[in-house]
Amino acid sequence: MSAETAFRSNISRISRANLSPITYCKRPVEERIRDFQEAIVGYDEFSALFEASRCIQCPYPQACTLNCPAGNDIPEALWLISEGRFAEAGQVFARTSPLPEICGRVCPNLCQQGCVLSRRKGAVSIGKLEAFAADKARQAGLLKIHVPEQKTGKRVAVVGSGPAGLTVAEDLVRLGHEVTVFEAWPQPGGVLVYGIPNFKLDKQIVMNKVHDLEEAGVRFVTNTRIGEQLTIADLQAEYDAVFLGTGAGVEARMNIPGEDLEGVYTSTDFLVRANVPEEMKPDDKRGKPFVGRRVAVIGGGDTAVDCARSAIRLGAEEVTIIYRRTEQEMPGNPKERAICLEEGAKVRYLEAPVAYLGDENGRLCAMKLVKMKLGEPDASGRRRPVPIEGSEYVEPIDTVILAVGYWPDPLLGETTKGLATRKWGLIVADESTGATSLPGVFAAGDNVHGPDLVITAVSAAHAAAKHIHAYLCGQPVPTVDPH
Ligand code: SF4
Repeated sequence: MSAETAFRSNISRISRANLSPITYCKRPVEERIRDFQEAIVGYDEFSALFEASRCIQCPYPQACTLNCPAGNDIPEALWLISEGRFAEAGQVFARTSPLPEICGRVCPNLCQQGCVLSRRKGAVSIGKLEAFAADKARQAGLLKIHVPEQKTGKRVAVVGSGPAGLTVAEDLVRLGHEVTVFEAWPQPGGVLVYGIPNFKLDKQIVMNKVHDLEEAGVRFVTNTRIGEQLTIADLQAEYDAVFLGTGAGVEARMNIPGEDLEGVYTSTDFLVRANVPEEMKPDDKRGKPFVGRRVAVIGGGDTAVDCARSAIRLGAEEVTIIYRRTEQEMPGNPKERAICLEEGAKVRYLEAPVAYLGDENGRLCAMKLVKMKLGEPDASGRRRPVPIEGSEYVEPIDTVILAVGYWPDPLLGETTKGLATRKWGLIVADESTGATSLPGVFAAGDNVHGPDLVITAVSAAHAAAKHIHAYLCGQPVPTVDPH
């Protein structure tokens, strides 16, 4: 018996509950802001084992598993890690989530928020342990996708290769269906490659998943935007079922003067230019952006934080997130924000831009802001920001990045007869089956419920895949009422 195992087996549940959390390793700030490599190193074997040993193996139903949208069997995985069976733990996470290496890195750890130990010494660091165990499973070759020898002969087109598309592709190829994934960007991965920066999620991790799927027989067709080169009707003619997992990648604008000036970026444009390797970029987004000395990021969510951290890595000296409400209403993950502040960004609350001003060459040189106060709650339940009359002021700025909201690509709805959509172009779909208003066409993820977490898209996509399979097997899956 190893020293660690002896230690663990000799402590009671209560003693475990009183153990202090083992912190995972982050690269030093001064080192990590000089490159785009992953900022969080995570756990080594010894620390992972001790951190997992803090789990008191709560009786069923465990709050952590209930809180995980994918229903990961967290106690079992943590038990295996605490036994030193790291790769097997990774397989447990992979049983319910096709993207454990990714979710462990980028999810805001809803599971942890449910952990009973939050009220004692601190929740078990489940997300980082998931990433650690999944990496071990990959190194051990245990994340391969097994497909049946006997194929069904059914063909499925998956539109979009972000979290929802990859999940549906894996679930269906495992069931013996033939799957082709269409992606508008030059490489598969969707938001996982073209949205989430490399310092949070190394692109190679996504490519490993794509490679697994290709080995399992999934075909990827890139540089193909459905609604442009091909329509959903074209796919319906060729495939037995169609899944729409196109996410919510179209960015909102504020429609204020000066938004078209050189030096004002939308967040996706900026993140692609800043973070994506040149060979993976589309032709119109080549080269790193010039950010100058002073950068303002408009918005309060995780994307705003990603943009601020990218701007720091591009050499900006003053990076400020400008949010129109207060910290209390801010939508992003507080832990991500804390890392961003640690790296040198600042946040200014209760302010909003009203205009961007250009120099004689048409390049951004200043912005006009107004101070806000909070009024009555709006439809979201958050107090509405109200401009304070006469509080406008102008400050010099070199680069502005807009991260103020996202909605789905409207092209699918516009080019598909009978596909019901609603406000902001969201696709009308049954959230428990993925069925849309068109027979054999399913949808799930951000294009149905709006921008949300990777794991939420995975969970919805699992449900859709189950019902696509049922549909392909001849079982009835009712379409939704378009009204
Ligand atoms: Fe372990 Fe926390 Fe889950 Fe309980 S709630 S089983 S302590 S991870």
